[in-house]
Amino acid sequence: MDASQWLHKQPQGLYCEPADCYIDPLHPVEHALITHAHADHAIGGHQSVTATSSTLAIMQTRYGEDMAGSTQAVNYHEQITLGSLNDPVTCVFYPAGHILGSAQILLCYRGTRVVISGDYKRQSDPTCLPFKPVPCDVFITEATFALPVFKHPSIEQEMAKLLDSLAVFPERCHLVGVYALGKCQRVILALRAIGYTSPIYLHGAQRKLCDLYERQGIELGELIDVAEVSDKQSLAGNIVLAPPSALSDRWSRTLPNVRRAMASGWMQIRARAKQRQVELPLVVSDHCDWQALLDTIEEVNPNEVWITHGREDALLHALTQQGRTAQALSMVGYESDTQD
Ligand SMILES: [Zn+2]
Ligand SMILES: [Zn+2]
Repeated sequence: MDASQWLHKQPQGLYCEPADCYIDPLHPVEHALITHAHADHAIGGHQSVTATSSTLAIMQTRYGEDMAGSTQAVNYHEQITLGSLNDPVTCVFYPAGHILGSAQILLCYRGTRVVISGDYKRQSDPTCLPFKPVPCDVFITEATFALPVFKHPSIEQEMAKLLDSLAVFPERCHLVGVYALGKCQRVILALRAIGYTSPIYLHGAQRKLCDLYERQGIELGELIDVAEVSDKQSLAGNIVLAPPSALSDRWSRTLPNVRRAMASGWMQIRARAKQRQVELPLVVSDHCDWQALLDTIEEVNPNEVWITHGREDALLHALTQQGRTAQALSMVGYESDTQD
């Protein structure tokens, strides 16, 4: 049965009719399947939420224990059944390689398989399980960085730039803008992996999720809250991780001789770095770049591709030229600017 007959776009998000549930709805609904806990995919206030246990734990940390009427935790690769027993939708969550707990959701109805990939990447990331290509009829993908100009370097290379800068400017406090969920912990682990063992300092907004990652078994090394440091001059030559919004606010003026950096896929665009007054742009993305998108679609090799949001035109054009069937869903509200 043609997937568009049972899975369609609604103002709240993608709706699976025979299962009566939404995927990553942007407004409170009765039953939500959540790919991952970034705020543009996971909101509080649903009557019931089905997600991986890590995603549920992050949502509870952000929105409170009562973030949903009820929750159902699913393991990766575990098959669950939705909808009516005599005409069911089967559903499996697979790793997406995006952040801790992130998943692609496979929905299968009357023999048609649809994979909703949520956000995903193919670069290595020790904070989560790697993306798993899942055979399907319809592959639903985002297109945040779907332009040939986007080429994400390795995170090791970008972190080496940060350590080089620390060596060159030991009198300056290196303030790095990172989103609190996912990017922050990935940057910390990448620094540890290339041998940086000094304490890493945190803006207060980063603490709760770092603690949660540690409780989930991801060890981040010594982390110190900037608020606990009485002599702020001692932060010269050290790394402070803060939300991007804190890069140029009053709080940052308490730090000595700040050198501003930011870790984001958007740092490849010079104007964005300038806008944020970033001296040291670090191109670190939790999304696919252009080539990784094309390679992934080739590997998954679906009959059809649906593109949710981002640079839909460019990806649509490239896929059509390859002879693939593709369509743009033009979904609004999933703006990755805020998370990446
Ligand atoms: Zn995301
Ligand atoms: Zn997103």
